[in-house]
Amino acid sequence: MPPSPCVHPAQLKMRGLLVFAALLAAAFSTETFVGNQVLRIFAANEADVEKVKELEEVENLQLDFWRRSASPETPIDVRVPFASLQAVKIFLESNCIRYAITIEDLQTLVDEEQRQMVQHYSFPRSVETFNYATYHNLDEIYDFMDLLVAANPNLVSKIQIGNSYEGRPLYVLKFSTGGAKRPAIWIDTGIHSREWVTQASGVWFAKKILDSYGKDPSLTSILDSLDIFLEIVTNPDGFAFTQTKNRMWRKTRSINAGSTCIGVDPNRNWDAGFGGAGASGNPCSETYRGPYANSEREVKAIVDFVKSHGNIKAFISIHSYSQLLLYPYGYTTARAADYQELDNIAKAAVTALASLNGTKYKYGSIITTIYQASGGTIDWTYNQGIKYSFTFELRDTGRYGFLLPASQIIPTAEETWLALMTIMEYTRDHPY
Ligand SMILES: [Zn+2]
Repeated sequence: MPPSPCVHPAQLKMRGLLVFAALLAAAFSTETFVGNQVLRIFAANEADVEKVKELEEVENLQLDFWRRSASPETPIDVRVPFASLQAVKIFLESNCIRYAITIEDLQTLVDEEQRQMVQHYSFPRSVETFNYATYHNLDEIYDFMDLLVAANPNLVSKIQIGNSYEGRPLYVLKFSTGGAKRPAIWIDTGIHSREWVTQASGVWFAKKILDSYGKDPSLTSILDSLDIFLEIVTNPDGFAFTQTKNRMWRKTRSINAGSTCIGVDPNRNWDAGFGGAGASGNPCSETYRGPYANSEREVKAIVDFVKSHGNIKAFISIHSYSQLLLYPYGYTTARAADYQELDNIAKAAVTALASLNGTKYKYGSIITTIYQASGGTIDWTYNQGIKYSFTFELRDTGRYGFLLPASQIIPTAEETWLALMTIMEYTRDHPY
């Protein structure tokens, strides 16, 4: 018998399921990730890295790079829609580039996350009963901030530094024990909206600061000499979008003139090497830099705040994932003037972090540790004279990526807190 055209019955069934899931998703107008896989690509050399970059150029593959790489040392993680899987795998195999499937079906993880959120939902009534071990939506986090301020009005206040593109308030918590224009430490989480463990950690940090004041001598002495500003939902439009429409949304939600693609990468939009290599000029790219520096209101609000404050001494911008602690620069190979000092602080911070659960972090400058990135937050803050400028990439190293299970929120926040304390203590003890 001649071989029939090769369609396995199981594939037909899978296709049927996919169509059904797509219809369901369309009904709720929610992006589905059924059949999406996350591939880990091991480039063996520079030529392989370049080959993978070619893939990225093919727009209709709709690839979503979760972790890029500039060198063979770091694997590349990429989310591949079901429809592109075969083409991508054939491309890799025919180029003899090794890969592994790290996430078999992304929608399974998204569903699991949803189930966990629904199961642990409770209306937040107080900061004591608030569930820190689950993911929360935007309203719940905004409610949390109000509960926090109401419970501790002498220690924390809520300020609004602007509005998002879609008009949402940009709130910052100010922790202060008094004094006008004290030197300050800035911490932000969630500038990339899909990095949910960061906003969840931000919530936990806020509670931790209040619990520690007056009890932990070190945090107490920090707050007696420095203010702490904490922006938990730095990209609220994107965050709301991840909750209702597309869990994998990273950028802002601004409309791009002349394009149907939405949003700007708010970590490529700062005025530091803006427009250079390490960002995209294509509005459809996940690393689109925007039409000009500070075009995004979410970025501009922080820029204006930092400038008008004028006395911020440490600036810490928190992302996930990869387990990294990074310092400037990202846009240039030139070493930061304070390179050695920043390297020492980073080393001490990751050592403190690892002491709790053994979680290992790499550290170094952005460009040497991950890849060239222009228009990044901390390059700008560093060039503004904020010496202690750092970026974290929290858990994990790719097993779950952005879909980190809620059971890891508190362990992640707890260990990160130790690194934050190291940086804050250093800032307190080394004024400039
Ligand atoms: Zn990020």
